[in-house]
Amino acid sequence: MSTAVLTKETLNPFEIAQAQFDAAADYLMLDEGLRTILKRPKRQLIVSIPVRMDDGRIKVFEGYRVQHNLSRGPAKGGIRYHPDVTLDEVKALASWMTWKCATVNIPYGGGKGGVRVDPKQLSLGELERLTRRYATEIAPIIGPDRDIPAPDVYTTPQTMAWIMDTISMFHGHTELGVVTGKPLSLGGSKGRHEATARGCQYTTRAACAVKRISLKGAKVAVQGFGNAGSIAARLLHEDGATVIAASDSKGGIYNENGIDPEAALRHKEETGSLVGFRGCDAISNQELLELRCDVLVPAALENTITLENAEHIRAKIVAEAANGPTTPGADRVLRERGIFVIPDILCNAGGVTVSYFEWVQDLYGFFWTEHEVNSYLERTMSAAFREVHAAAEKYRVDMRTGAYITAVARVAEATKVRGIFP
Ligand code: NAD
Repeated sequence: MSTAVLTKETLNPFEIAQAQFDAAADYLMLDEGLRTILKRPKRQLIVSIPVRMDDGRIKVFEGYRVQHNLSRGPAKGGIRYHPDVTLDEVKALASWMTWKCATVNIPYGGGKGGVRVDPKQLSLGELERLTRRYATEIAPIIGPDRDIPAPDVYTTPQTMAWIMDTISMFHGHTELGVVTGKPLSLGGSKGRHEATARGCQYTTRAACAVKRISLKGAKVAVQGFGNAGSIAARLLHEDGATVIAASDSKGGIYNENGIDPEAALRHKEETGSLVGFRGCDAISNQELLELRCDVLVPAALENTITLENAEHIRAKIVAEAANGPTTPGADRVLRERGIFVIPDILCNAGGVTVSYFEWVQDLYGFFWTEHEVNSYLERTMSAAFREVHAAAEKYRVDMRTGAYITAVARVAEATKVRGIFP
């Protein structure tokens, strides 16, 4: 067996994703051929995106779309706009999507896209031209029955509306199912905006029950205050938890007695950052991660909890709203220290689950109430938590390995039954 043993900490997200896969493949005793297939992305597209800037100059950005595994259905996964996006990061995120969709048992494979750009430096017009050209460049491989993008870091329902419109222009008719996370006025689903955070809330509730912690009165720290983090903070606050700290890319805020997440979000919308929110002390992102609390929610980017700081994490539960926030080395340390990690491919799977519901509604042209969406989501997330927890108990492993064992077994079975073409 070719288990990748990480002798020193790697921060390459794709190597991390492969090591996580290997750990589960070992428990499942997967044969070498299947392993080799499941470790690699099926398709990787690199595109150049020329954009006419507002001042008349032309700039060319690099973009990616990766499809990791399509055995269980079309590829599904977000599009990220960030200056640090790399092909390896997109490959990792695409493979995490394969495992995530299988963990919650929805009929998709994994995909992901990204553009190396700092969207904060672009005007709205420049962003629209970038998005429409990127959509055009990846058009040959996306579509409602092939690969369905969605929002990720620094992309929004507006971004999805531009992509949907661009693809629809080529097809000559409105193609609602080509992306999810769209605005409600354009075939979006009720509950999608909150879905990632709601899944995080449901799995945090379940983890609290396992750890016998009352969520009411629990202290919560949230790193990253975008779609996933800010809404998770609000929902956990509504469950009676005390949000003692929150942060964004510019810095963090702390108040032992609790922060009102909605007021903090208004401050961020008005000023561009949480920094300076009234009644709070300033803290760094690093200090936030190391606070004594019940639940730590990393909701920003990869490689947040590493060997550098894992010894200093003082949370009882880590709820991974972000993708890839914990390195395998840090995972080992957290496990030894008895910290319960709700792994990303389970914790943040609420987003893709409601994306799936959105796609189903678009294909049927029949839309559900918010209550229906949330109750299907709760059913899906609760079942997935139970299955992952049962696998973790059965194999005497942590929740991440339990989730990978559950997911890899499903994808391996589908790949095996389909057979190798031709
Ligand atoms: P977003 O763009 O809405 O928000 C990102 C937030 O992270 C912002 O508040 C930003 O200021 C903050 N941030 C960026 N760099 C930071 C840093 N170095 N330190 C602290 N904060 C930082 O993005 P999002 O959609 O909320 O995504 C956040 C994470 O959740 C990503 O890992 C993403 O892949 C994951 N995720 C998102 C969804 C979704 O539906 N949006 C679904 C599943 C997983």
